Amino acid sequence: EVDRKESLYVISTFAAQFFADNLWNTDEGKSIGLSYFKERGFREETLKKFEIGYSPEEWSALNDKALSEGYKQEFLEETGLVIKNDKGRIYDRFRARVIFPIHNFTGRIIGFGGRTLKTDKSVPKYVNSPESDIYHKSNVLYGLFQAKKAIRDMDNCFLVEGYADVMAVHQAGVENVVASSGTSLTTEQIKLISRFTNSVCILYDGDAAGIKASLRGLDMILEEGLDVKVVLFPDGHDPDSYIQAYGASAFKTHVEKNKKDFIFYKTEILLQDAANDPIKKAGVIRDVVESIAKIPDAIKASVFLRECSSLLNMEERILIAELNKIRLTKA
Ligand code: ATP
Ligand code: MN
Ligand code: MN
Ligand code: MN
Repeated sequence: EVDRKESLYVISTFAAQFFADNLWNTDEGKSIGLSYFKERGFREETLKKFEIGYSPEEWSALNDKALSEGYKQEFLEETGLVIKNDKGRIYDRFRARVIFPIHNFTGRIIGFGGRTLKTDKSVPKYVNSPESDIYHKSNVLYGLFQAKKAIRDMDNCFLVEGYADVMAVHQAGVENVVASSGTSLTTEQIKLISRFTNSVCILYDGDAAGIKASLRGLDMILEEGLDVKVVLFPDGHDPDSYIQAYGASAFKTHVEKNKKDFIFYKTEILLQDAANDPIKKAGVIRDVVESIAKIPDAIKASVFLRECSSLLNMEERILIAELNKIRLTKA
């Protein structure tokens, strides 16, 4: 069993080397993959740090190479690196994509994300490794291996949506950054962060999906007893596109200036919809108190309740009553 898992790690490392070799040392990789990253503003040292690669536009380049070097077909299939179709044909999962290896927090490669370079919608933008004995999506944070020291040092963890965001933010000099790529944020991932810090700052995409995910994420983070702030990006930007558009130092300034405690962020977002409608405003108050009710620490919860009271111009005792009601019905 241990040997079997070890074989999956070994074949994943082999695949990462194969993809990296293709990116740096083949004509196709250099002209397509490497130039793509350069156009996106990524430096070579960043690509090396994240062990980025490229999968050639062939049906079974990785499979053939691995077999010729004595690796076993069954392990290629178990990691999902190759797929066997109904007719028994074997082909590579990742073809004509740039490759982001996914490490566990000790640095071993356990899976991959692959991005197409096509701009039409003929294929999905991202393809990810399936679950395997070494890769459990819900327990993994992309970039944690590269970020963990900085997370401890800064006593904070930035949380972004995508692989490119992790690399771009890291390259901008903010190294305490991870993504919950390939899945929406899980409790296990928050517990993983809490081994390194109790403070999270969400930097999701500034679009409807990102805002929705940030509201869900902040409640989950509060429930685990961590502190959470949120930064909203303008005009549908994500951290990577913001850095590309305005530069690294503008990005850092934006984060510092727009970092909001969850309660201000959530209130602001919800009040935008409520406008001056008193019934909707009552709903906002309840919704914000629901988030406060998730905070396990009673003192922290009462501090936020007072904040909420002045923010929404609502008597504190009414909010306390509401909080107690929520706690009673959830208990
Ligand atoms: P890029 O900047 O390269 O266009 P992105 O990271 O900004 O990519 P988003 O569309 O914002 O892309 O998606 C955020 C993350 O969600 C991705 O990095 C990827 O991990 C995941 N994701 C997006 N689309 C898919 C998909 N079709 N299948 C699986 N995962 C996906
Ligand atoms: Mn998005
Ligand atoms: Mn994005
Ligand atoms: Mn992006």
